[in-house]
Amino acid sequence: MNDSNLNGRLASASYQLVETRLQTKLDNGITRCDLCLWRCKLSHGQRGFCQAHVNRNGTLYNLSYGIVSSMEVGPIEDKPVKHYRPGSKVLSVGSYGCNFRCGGCHNLEISWGTEALDELARGESKAAYVTPDELVEAALRQGVEGIAFTYSEPAVWLEYLLDVSEAAYRAGLYTVYVTNSFVTDEALELMAPQVDVVCSDIKSMRDEFYHQVCPVGSVSEVLDSIEKAQRLGIHVETRTNIIPGYNDGPEGCDRSPSGFVIISAPRAPGTSPASSPPTS
Ligand code: SF4
Repeated sequence: MNDSNLNGRLASASYQLVETRLQTKLDNGITRCDLCLWRCKLSHGQRGFCQAHVNRNGTLYNLSYGIVSSMEVGPIEDKPVKHYRPGSKVLSVGSYGCNFRCGGCHNLEISWGTEALDELARGESKAAYVTPDELVEAALRQGVEGIAFTYSEPAVWLEYLLDVSEAAYRAGLYTVYVTNSFVTDEALELMAPQVDVVCSDIKSMRDEFYHQVCPVGSVSEVLDSIEKAQRLGIHVETRTNIIPGYNDGPEGCDRSPSGFVIISAPRAPGTSPASSPPTS
């Protein structure tokens, strides 16, 4: 995407670490991150599995707030979301850091981004910093009707997702959260009042497959998270990327995706988040 108003902003101009919203202080300066199901326990100076969260003196901070690794305008069907505002366009955005390490990831450079996160951690990054309002303004200039958080797991920059979603609601834009659903109930509860659509990636219906991409993951955790999102009132759709020889057999795929589409009544775009409390 070529949006000259977003080019040339240096991270050093306004970038700052943002405290993460879901963290639990344990003993001896160790703090647990409660954003995703890894629930990393980090000591001072350590970063989480996603590399995007760092413990500084017992407090966890998000390194990637406002750091956009990629942007693209396209139809919502490309997410793929088929049953919410068909024919509308979204601005897709992502940042560095992911809580999975999928072999065959097709967004490797813009999702893991370990080098970019290292530079941010050292305070040496020259990456463009984009405030939530600037991102929404860019979306409006592009003439889209929604913003999609995608490319890597968006829970990893949840603080940014929440602030952008709030600004998007005010501007009448809907929001889409494209996820691996390896996230905590607490994270879903935080985002439910502000996110219109969850598009969840069910990689396979076999635990063995999940163990290859995320050793602590299991199918039941992913399905539980999807069900939770639906119970919170979010419009939910699912997808499966077929990898020939891995998840296209009778036990990998046939039991999953196509029949597993949950759709709940969507909220109208532009509805105030505060007027749509989650139900649990
Ligand atoms: S988002 Fe997940 S992987 Fe990253 S620090 Fe938190 S618990 Fe760990």
